[in-house]
Amino acid sequence: MKLFGKKIKFPFSKKSISQRDQKYIWHPLTQHKLNPELLAIKSAKAAILKDEDGNTYIDAIASWYTSMYGHCHPKIIDKVQSQMQTLDQVVFSGFTHEPAVELSEKLMEILPKNQAKLFFNDNGSTATEIGIKMALQYHHNQGHDRRVMLALEDGFHGDTFGAMSVSSLSVYNGAFEGHFIEVIRIPKPDGRNNSDIIQQLKAIIGEHKIAGFIYEPLVQGAAAMQTYDLTGLDEMLKICKQNNIICVADEVMTGFGKTGRHFASDYLKQKPDVICLSKALTAGMLGMGITSCTQKVYKAFYSDDISKGLFHGHTYTGNPLACAAAIAGIELLTSEEIQNSIKNIMSLNQMFGNKMQKHPKIQNIRQIGVILALDLDLKTERYGNTRDQIFKFFMDRGVFLRPLGNTIYILPPYVITEKQLSKIYATIEEYLETI
Ligand SMILES: *Cc1c(COP(=O)(O)O)cnc(C)c1O
Repeated sequence: MKLFGKKIKFPFSKKSISQRDQKYIWHPLTQHKLNPELLAIKSAKAAILKDEDGNTYIDAIASWYTSMYGHCHPKIIDKVQSQMQTLDQVVFSGFTHEPAVELSEKLMEILPKNQAKLFFNDNGSTATEIGIKMALQYHHNQGHDRRVMLALEDGFHGDTFGAMSVSSLSVYNGAFEGHFIEVIRIPKPDGRNNSDIIQQLKAIIGEHKIAGFIYEPLVQGAAAMQTYDLTGLDEMLKICKQNNIICVADEVMTGFGKTGRHFASDYLKQKPDVICLSKALTAGMLGMGITSCTQKVYKAFYSDDISKGLFHGHTYTGNPLACAAAIAGIELLTSEEIQNSIKNIMSLNQMFGNKMQKHPKIQNIRQIGVILALDLDLKTERYGNTRDQIFKFFMDRGVFLRPLGNTIYILPPYVITEKQLSKIYATIEEYLETI
């Protein structure tokens, strides 16, 4: 039997993990009729994934931007392991614990200085869901009639209802469109259209009762790493702030060093009122989200009236093990070693980007921090045959990438070696020869 072009053994007595998977499991973002076989990963270390037949793959997207310090990092394992000997889980409403408090102190040291409070939750979608709730209830609590969210076109903020509502319209979400919250979408500033976007923004603010503005700062991940204009975004945020619109930065993808700074918002003059965090927050070890906010936002909920509180809570909120993983992650992020690796990846990506600039099969190249995206001169569906062929080409050569439409992007873990990066680059060049 062959899977991704690799020969795999077929033990007659024992079914493989891939085979056993098919009986009961329904996978995310998967049409099982079209994608019956899924590769079973047995182990992972640093930037390498190993499948059940022993084939290895370079994790060129850090397992969806989570495992930025590499898989199974000994420092993260140690922290979580020692935490689980003392406190595994406790209710976070009415109780608190050391790992959450230590994490709050460590996170506040690296977040933009205007952030004052942290609301713990479970994942990226809940982090943005709460960001939206904070914006809406901030106004509700003060008796303002504002119930509309403003969002950027092509944005992605998660798969729960509020998060889906503010994400760009997708054919995949068609079944739910009648149930969305009210959202106005505005195009991204690109440097040339800035004054036009500002005019549009002012008109929208005049016509609609906007409560909050949600945006992925500087780069939209799910939109195939589309970058946009820093100055334009700063101008938009300034106008939103002048109009008391709560600015919600979705840093679920961009957070924790990927753009070259700890947070993409660090590049902007206008700091967000709310920041949504997840993915690399817990260093790829456990699931958790956090939504931070300013004192101004928090104050609107702080009241003698119990109903003015934020009545949102998940059972595993503030899980001590997830907090321990996040603490280890921040310690790694702020280490000289990781900061140097980030700079090194940025310059290697830049050299490769420059080399590819004039390639006839490449339409556009974008780079920010450790993220490098290349648009191929190909017509493809976001999830379609060509995209699957590109995916397979790389997997066959031991490189795990997740092309989006005709875009190939890499977002490697910071611990990737130069040799592994060179292999990714070489495989991309090899692929370009085939099209
Ligand atoms: C991944 C992502 C989310 C959703 O996070 P989940 O943990 O998958 O729910 C939200 N916003 C952005 C920008 C993301 O990249």
